[in-house]
Amino acid sequence: MSKKNIIPIFVPHLGCPNDCVFCNQKKITAVSTNVSTEDVYSIIEEYLGYFKDKKNIEVAFYGGSFTAIDQNIQRELLTVIKEYKKKKIISEIRISTRPDCIDNEVLDILKFYLVDTIELGVQSLDENVLNRSNRGHDSSCVYRASKLIKEYGFNLGLQQMLGLPGDTLEKSLYTAREFIKIDPDFVRIYPTLVIKETQLLKDLENGLYSALTLEEAVNMSKEVLKVYIINNIPVIRIGLQPTDNIQLNKDVVTGPFHPSIRQLVEGEILFEVLKNYFNDLKVEDGVLSIFASGKNISSLSGQKGTIKRKITDALNLKRLKLREKNIGNENLILNYNNLEKEIKILDFITLERTCI
Ligand code: SF4
Repeated sequence: MSKKNIIPIFVPHLGCPNDCVFCNQKKITAVSTNVSTEDVYSIIEEYLGYFKDKKNIEVAFYGGSFTAIDQNIQRELLTVIKEYKKKKIISEIRISTRPDCIDNEVLDILKFYLVDTIELGVQSLDENVLNRSNRGHDSSCVYRASKLIKEYGFNLGLQQMLGLPGDTLEKSLYTAREFIKIDPDFVRIYPTLVIKETQLLKDLENGLYSALTLEEAVNMSKEVLKVYIINNIPVIRIGLQPTDNIQLNKDVVTGPFHPSIRQLVEGEILFEVLKNYFNDLKVEDGVLSIFASGKNISSLSGQKGTIKRKITDALNLKRLKLREKNIGNENLILNYNNLEKEIKILDFITLERTCI
């Protein structure tokens, strides 16, 4: 299937009944005005003008809690998009919301307006983390909302945050394992960033919270991502999308921000895969060539060659050659000791002991 063309429509904090400690939705979406039906028309038309490929177009409402918005406004916004969908100009509609803003009435409306996908901002399934983050709902609400969404036949996306107040690697792994039981269609992972004008920043300044370092966030993301990979749940994003404002020293005051955090995480996983594969095997002449997809070659190289150096040191190599080859993202071809072996990455991923 061709790549999705996404038309993003931001609904900043409009209708959100809550005030999570980490959230300043106006900052995250960089829009502070309410969205009107005229805005929706013009955003869609503007994007339709950009797209060369007019197929597989999805309108996605981001930010805020869509189903907490006044129902008349929800209906007005969705009416515009339903027209485009009926004319087959757009193919999918996605909204995101809070688990406690889902019930039969809400889902009936979303079905009527032909919404396809509902993403729930879950963040954690640990009660203490939910409480300390002021999420305003407990974990049972997440299971109930997810079940209902699936019963209605929507695609379900779940968002998980790492490093919230009270969170630990173990609690994040628990959340990931519970997500697997819920069986969503996809997941997003967000290591927590400290954004301007949030309670989290106040807590940080008062010594009540400490943000993850980038290294800690990469390690936690790696362990959590492995759980999803092994269970065949697509992770469609790691880390907030960098924008003009979502940058360190702009709206992000501190925290594990990195524009390519996913690449750092996947590089660490591939490093482990190679260590697991070679285990007691020795590369006799110290020369290893790896053939992989462009994406995996970038991850194997790492930022400024860090992962390449780690592999070289760990396997005691004289030379590591990384070569791009069109073999998909699931496999690597290893050339060493006059042998050529194609390995499946998944076969050499091992979980943290706490996961087993
Ligand atoms: S529920 Fe979502 S939009 Fe509302 S405060 Fe929390 S994170 Fe922000």
